[in-house]
Parts: sequence; structure tokens; C-alpha cells
Amino acid sequence: MQHIIDRFVSYVTIDTESDPNSDTTPSTKKQFDLANKLAEELKTIGLKEVTIDKHGYIMATLPSNVDHEVPTIGFISHFDTTPDFTGKDVKPQIVPNYDGGDIVLNAEQNIVLSPNYFKDLLLYKGQTLITTNGLTLLGADDKAGITEIVTAIEYLVNNPEIKHGKIRVGFTPDEEIGRGADLFDVKKFGADWAYTMDGSQIGELEYENFNAAGVKITFKGKSVHPGYAKGKMINSMLIANDFINELPKHETPQETKGYEGFFHVTGISGSIEETKLDLIIRDHDMKKFKKRKELVHDITKKFNKKFAKQFGEDIVITTIKDQYYNMKEKVEPVMFIVDLAEKAMKSLDIKPLIKPIRGGTDGCRLSYMGLPCPNIFAGGHNFHGKYEYVPVESMQKAIDVIIKIAELTATTDFSKTEKKKSKKKK
Ligand SMILES: [Zn+2]
Repeated sequence: MQHIIDRFVSYVTIDTESDPNSDTTPSTKKQFDLANKLAEELKTIGLKEVTIDKHGYIMATLPSNVDHEVPTIGFISHFDTTPDFTGKDVKPQIVPNYDGGDIVLNAEQNIVLSPNYFKDLLLYKGQTLITTNGLTLLGADDKAGITEIVTAIEYLVNNPEIKHGKIRVGFTPDEEIGRGADLFDVKKFGADWAYTMDGSQIGELEYENFNAAGVKITFKGKSVHPGYAKGKMINSMLIANDFINELPKHETPQETKGYEGFFHVTGISGSIEETKLDLIIRDHDMKKFKKRKELVHDITKKFNKKFAKQFGEDIVITTIKDQYYNMKEKVEPVMFIVDLAEKAMKSLDIKPLIKPIRGGTDGCRLSYMGLPCPNIFAGGHNFHGKYEYVPVESMQKAIDVIIKIAELTATTDFSKTEKKKSKKKK
């Protein structure tokens, strides 16, 4: 287990925070500090066709070691960390044989990781946890995934008695700012399907995510001296407030779970003359997703009609932009790739936790780019903050899952599933 810890620590101590305000890819140059190291490491392990392009995307091949034809599969992770919390000077702390009590992350500032608040900790009593020192995030999202893929592939190289087909490895920049799939060359990757190793708790297996849209609304107003404003002033901030009140009050992130969608106000700034409002819309169900977008348009129309006489032109200007879609649509026709991962977990005594993602992954974008790509647990918890931690045992299990999927892919007869597929196409 020590080699997993050493490898993970060697990755998380390199700062790879991405930056949404940058136009370049990768969004921050420092992501190359880890990317270059990873490319070298993959070569050292003995992988073939190791490439790193000018945008930092890394691809590599573990060639097949069987004579018969086997589908090419891929494993994908991202090496950037979120800009939501600092990833500079990460100092991981190792907690062996966790006793189920409070973990003091930082005594000086009294920062404590406690199972009273984070109940998931109790799942890992007796295990080895890696935590932060309370001042940074950890970066298990998604350097745990990278650690797992590199270690699993290394194991397959060193244990050729385990039979597998061609395996492709892909590491991407800028996932955390929603651009990880942007410049991913699906054709060059050349896999029939892939898995992102980017989930949380052990057992997670995900192939459904939100349909997502971003809404930008501008409210116009009319500024008049408040002493003489009666019947003349239009305060755009108050109209924006009325608009928000027209949205279903309880359909917010803080009041929904599972398959329940929501409207989420993410930003508002304004003056009397003009107010800008940002919303996001999320729903797993495509019909409901469309309805939500229609509702925003309908409220817009209603307001414009109401103020048509007084204002003379449209007072509310709304633009809605789709961001990503539920990968379920692309994965269901090849459901055997989820079944395969589930089978791998069960054979390793891991209870599969199949649940919808309340967000998106690079895998969902890749699925729409032609690479069906469910998401598998990487083991970490409390991503994007100082309470982030990962049990080493969960990382080991993820490594086992990758190896098992490789093995099962080489020994499964896919001709039946392929037939089913072609039948459906007709
Ligand atoms: Zn991630």
C-alpha cells in the first residue's frame, strides 16, 4: 500500500489549480508540471504511444497481450484541481488505522475533520486515510484517479499472466472549469468505450447525469430622481427580484436530491438602470429539462408584456445556452459497458452504488463526442475543500476494479451484445 501513498503524494504536492478566467489550454501553465511528469512516468512503466500535446492532453497505450480480437477500452482522469479552494502547498497527512474519532487537521487553527459532521468517515474505521493539513484541498479529485490508473496499468505490465486487450490511458487538464473534454481527441484515443475514474465513495458507478443549461438575463430599468419618481421610475433590481419569485420556490439545489431537478440563482448584480441575473437549470429528464427552459421564456414574455406600454421595448432579455446533456442516452445502447464494471466490482466484493450524478463529468461530454464513458469511484470524499480525504484501501479497490475490467473485457464474448446492438439499429 505504501507505493500507492507515495505515488499519490508525489502528485498532490504539485499545484495544478485551473483558472476559469484564462483563455488558454491548459488554463494554467503549472498543470504541465504534473503533466510532463506523468508522461515520463508512463514511458518508464513501459507504455507505448505515450503522447502529450501542446494543450497538456496525455494519451498512452498498453498493447494487448492476447491473440484474439478484444475491444479497446480506455481509462480517463483529470490532473487539474478546482479553483474553488487553494491547491498550493498541499501537505498530506497520513492517518493509519483510523479509530473512528475526530481527526485534527490543524491544531493551531482548530480545524477538525469529525465523523459527527462527516458521517462517511465511519465507513473507514481501521483503514488508512490521507487528509489535508486544513489549509488546502487535497486533490484526490482527481489525482486519486490518476494514481489508480497508473498503478493498475503498471501492475498489468508486471503481471503479463493477466490477459487483456489494448488499453488506452487518457489524462486531461481543466476538467474542473468544465473544459476537460473540449480538446480531447476522441478519434486519436481510439477506444470503443472508456471509464472516467472520477467518482467519490467506493462502489460508485454512474452513467446518468444532469441535462444542463446556463441562463443569462438582463433587466432594464429607468432611473428618475426618487423625489419625482412616481409612475416613472422602473427599478430593474426589483423586477429581477420579482422574476426570481416566479420560479418554483422549492426547486433549488438546497431542497432537491436524487432525480429532482432545479433552478439555481448563481449571480446577481445591478443598479436601477440595469440588473444582470445568472441562473443554471438542471434536470436528468429531457422533457422536464425542456419545460424548465420554457418556463424561463414564459416568465420573460409575461414581464415584457406587462411593461410593454410603460417601457416601450422589451424590459427583460433572456438567453439560454445548453451546457451538457445526460449521458444515459449514449450509454444505454451499450449498457453492457456498465454491466461489465458492475460485474468487476461484485467479483471483488465491492457493492456497486449506481446512482445519478447531480452534475456533469467529462465522461458525459465524451459520450456525446462518440466515446461512451461511465464514471467509476476514485475513493475520495468532501471534494473541493479542506475536509477532502481519501482512504488508501478505496484506492486499492479502484485499482483492482481497473485490472478486473481489463481482464473481463478480454474474456467476455461481446458478439451477443454486438448483435443486440445491430438489431436495435434496424
Ligand atoms: Zn474530478
